This record gives sequence, C-alpha cells and structure tokens, in this order.
Amino acid sequence: MTELATPPVEERTGVKRISHWIGGRLVAGESGRSGPVYNPATGRQSGAVDFATPEEVDAAVQAAKQAFESWRQVSLAKRAELFFAIRELVHERREEVAKLLTQEHGKVLSDAIGEVTRGIEVIEFCCGLPTLLKSEYSEQASTGIDVYSIRQPLGVVAGITPFNFPAMVPMWMWAPALATGNTFVLKPSEKDPSASLWTAELLKEAGVPDGVFNVVMGDKVAVDAVLEHPDIKAVSFVGSTPIAKYVYETATSKGKRCQALGGAKNHMIVLPDADVAMAADAAVSAAYGSAGERCMAISQVVAVGNVAQPLIDAIKERIPKVKVGDGMDPSSEMGPLVTREHRDRVASYVENAPGEGATVLVDGRDEAPGDGFFLKPSLIDNVKPGMKAYEDEIFGPVLGVTRVDTYDEAVRLVNDNPYGNGTAIFTRDGGVARQFQFDVQAGMVGINVPIPVPVAYYSFGGWKASLFGDRHIYGPEGIDFYTRGKVVTSRWPDPATSKVDLGFPQTR
Ligand code: NAD
Repeated sequence: MTELATPPVEERTGVKRISHWIGGRLVAGESGRSGPVYNPATGRQSGAVDFATPEEVDAAVQAAKQAFESWRQVSLAKRAELFFAIRELVHERREEVAKLLTQEHGKVLSDAIGEVTRGIEVIEFCCGLPTLLKSEYSEQASTGIDVYSIRQPLGVVAGITPFNFPAMVPMWMWAPALATGNTFVLKPSEKDPSASLWTAELLKEAGVPDGVFNVVMGDKVAVDAVLEHPDIKAVSFVGSTPIAKYVYETATSKGKRCQALGGAKNHMIVLPDADVAMAADAAVSAAYGSAGERCMAISQVVAVGNVAQPLIDAIKERIPKVKVGDGMDPSSEMGPLVTREHRDRVASYVENAPGEGATVLVDGRDEAPGDGFFLKPSLIDNVKPGMKAYEDEIFGPVLGVTRVDTYDEAVRLVNDNPYGNGTAIFTRDGGVARQFQFDVQAGMVGINVPIPVPVAYYSFGGWKASLFGDRHIYGPEGIDFYTRGKVVTSRWPDPATSKVDLGFPQTR
C-alpha cells in the first residue's frame, strides 16, 4: 500500500485533492504524502488523497472525544429524529453519491445505487434506536431492591473500510455507532475516498454536531495510528483477511474491542435436481456483478454429478450477453476493476490456469474495451483444491467450476476452505437444503439465493478466516458491539431499617 504514495499533486495537474474531515470541516493534510485516485473506466487519475500522519489522526480523535461528552447526552428521541432526517437526505441524494462510487470504484451506476440502498436499510434500522436500547428491569429482586440493566456507548470508535463498498460498509459502522451515542473516526479506502467526505457533509447538513463524525484519509500509517490510539475504544474493520487478522490482533492487544471482517471464497453448490436455468442466471449474476469485487460474490461453482455439463453450457451461453463498459453508461452491466494492478493480478489467474491443469472455457482477457481497467468475465472448468485459482480469493470476474460426484464431497469442499463468509445451494429438495443449512460452516447461507447478504435487522458476518472477533456487523450484534452493559442494583430504603452488615449481599 505505501508504494502507492506519491508527492502531493500540484494544482496544475487538475486532479482534485481529497483531504480529511475533522471537527465538522475539511482539513488539508500536511504529511506531504498522498495517493492517486483513478477513474477506472478511463484509466486516468482523477484525484489525489492526502495520507494522514499520527498527529492528524490524533486531531480527529480529539475532536471526536470532545464531541462525545455532549453527544452521549442527546436524548434517544432527538437522536432518532436526527436519524430519520439522515435517512431522508441520503435517500433523496443517493444518485449523487452513487455517481462518486461509479467514478472512483468503477461499478455500474445501478449497482452503486443498489449499494447505497442497502446502506440506507441499516440507517432505517437505526431509526428504531429507542427500542434497540431498551433494557431489562427486575422489581423487588430482593426485598426493597430493584435491579436493571442499561447499555451505554463506548466513546470514540473507529472504522477502517475496504474499496469495494465505499458508501455501504462505512454505513454498517457509523450508523449503529452514532445511534448508540458514540462518536466516530472513519479511515476509508484510499482507492475511492470521496464517498466518505460526501457522507460527512451530508451528516452535517442533517444536523449531526461537529466532531461526532470525522474522516482521516490514509494508508498503513493512519491505520496504525488508529490501532495504537489510547482514546479509541473500539475498531470495526472490513477488508482482506491478512489485514483483518493484523488489525484484530493489534487492536485487541491494545485493549480495544474489535470486529474485523476478512476475505472470502464463496462456493455455490448446484445439485443434480436444481433448475439449471435459474442456477446459471444466479451464478452469472453473483460471479460477475460488480466485476466480482464483492466479498459475497460467488467465485466457485461446485457442480454435483451430471448437472455439470448442462450448467456449464448454460453459464457459457449467458457470458457473452454481459455488457461490459463504463459504469456511467446505463446499458453497461459490468464495469472495470478498481486499479490496473488489481486487473492484472486477476487476469494472471486466467493466464496461469491451464498450467495448473484447469480448463479456460471463456477467456475474459480478450477484447476488453478502452483504456480503463477492464477485464471481461472468465470461466474456468476443472478447478481443484491445491490450484491457486481455487485457493486464492481472486476478487474479480473469474468463476471457477469444480466437478464432484456427491453432496458430501461438495459440503466437504466448503467446510475445508479456510474462509467461511457466504455459501449457497441450488436444489429443489427441501430436505437436502435443510441438511445443508445444518452442515455447512459459513456465516451466511443462501438456499436458491446466490448472495445471501442479511437484511438490516439481522447481522452480517462470516466464520473462520472471514471474521476475527465474536460479534457480526450491523443489526442486533452491531448495537451490542458499540455499547457496553451496566447493571444497577438500587434501594430506596427506609432510614429507620438501615444497619451495618459485613456479610456478602444475599437476595432472600
Ligand atoms: P484491504 O485489506 O487491502 O484494505 C482494507 C483497509 O485496510 C483499507 O482501508 C486499507 O487502507 C487498509 N490497509 C491495507 N493494507 C494495510 C496494511 N498493510 N496495514 C494496515 N492497513 C491496511 O482490502 P481491500 O482491497 O480494500 O478490499 C477488498 C477485500 O475486502 C477483499 O478481501 C474482500 O473480501 C474484503 N471484504 C470483506 C467484506 C466482509 O464483509 N467480510 C466486505 C467487503 C470486502
């Protein structure tokens, strides 16, 4: 990551400068380090993002710390009202931020709007914060004694986010964090940082007080400053597995609460009784949507028994119809990849597949349009464990097919995989589907649903190397993550009955 750093871009280059947001205003970075931001559809640099120093991270934390004192006292009714206003504004202006996503990430505009819409659902969930923060009360737990629990915010909390959902993943974090009374420091991906500044301005416009939401741009230096900072009480991370593990280990060693969501290798099992056309539609949509740059993308189809050939034929028939092009063109269905390096890395899996013994059925490296970071959909058959195309999270529009003879072999493949984010089964047999739900080791399971991202009132998270930490993100577990419990034991005694008693408190 640090190799992306370049000297700050001069005004004459005409690219926009993307700075920090601290204490309710834009603050230009002073580190002298920055990174390039591209429009992946044209391949041209569109911006330069400042990389924060530890001092700049500290300034954001201090602004958040100061704001926390009054923010935590805002009544639930007022915070809920504010969340309704935020929801309305984001909804009204969702196309604005979607355009930023398309221009910096590359995904097609309709998909970018879809991303924002799923994020809005998390904000809507948070509008119910008075209900979400209701606690328990036991009257007369002992004679004259009542016991009740309350949940309180942690203080300053931080989010570190990946490039692939530059608006939605931060919403998974800041919405429940702010709703529960915390103040927030966001370190977005340096590849597509503009959506986070758009969010900061929108939250200010909605009425969120200065300092409650802050953004520091940057690379590992900024991440490490967040992880080391004694005033940050919790860190939410979403990104690749090696960094998730590093963030989790470092944050927890510093006494912070941490949830770190990592990478994935999502398998879709297709049984012989499945509806082949439906399974092929699902595989193409889930593998190539957003150019495969989704942590819930299907990257591996496991074809059981004699369904393999008809399924592969149906997928092959659909691939040439996927329209690849600039995401701002409404007829495009799949845009470019995020950077040239990433595009080339993804393409290398297609290039190396035959040498590993796999069969390239559709080669997406052919005739990609324009100068952008485009790669068309690829399909590789006979992909097996041990091959790089099977073991690695490719994170691009490359779908592998593994052929197996039985359901048991298929489930074993999923369960032996180090990742456990999402998985799906396609079948008409309810009994087998139910058995799959029982057997499979993954956090999110689809039954004839290829991308089972949970609705906002459930929580999102994988198993194994897809999640470090014990709480999933957003939904009820998100509320739990950003709050800590307190139990109050209370007595309003008659002074006449008060006496000294050195024994351990009894309840009877
Ligand atoms: P990434 O791990 O490279 O970056 C994520 C964040 O970590 C960014 O903010 C980045 O600046 C920071 N970072 C990168 N290298 C670092 C380092 N050495 N030290 C400290 N911080 C560092 O991930 P990405 O490429 O932006 O996103 C794609 C990855 O995210 C994929 O692996 C994908 O599966 C995963 N992802 C997972 C989920 C999930 O919910 N499990 C959701 C979206 C994306």
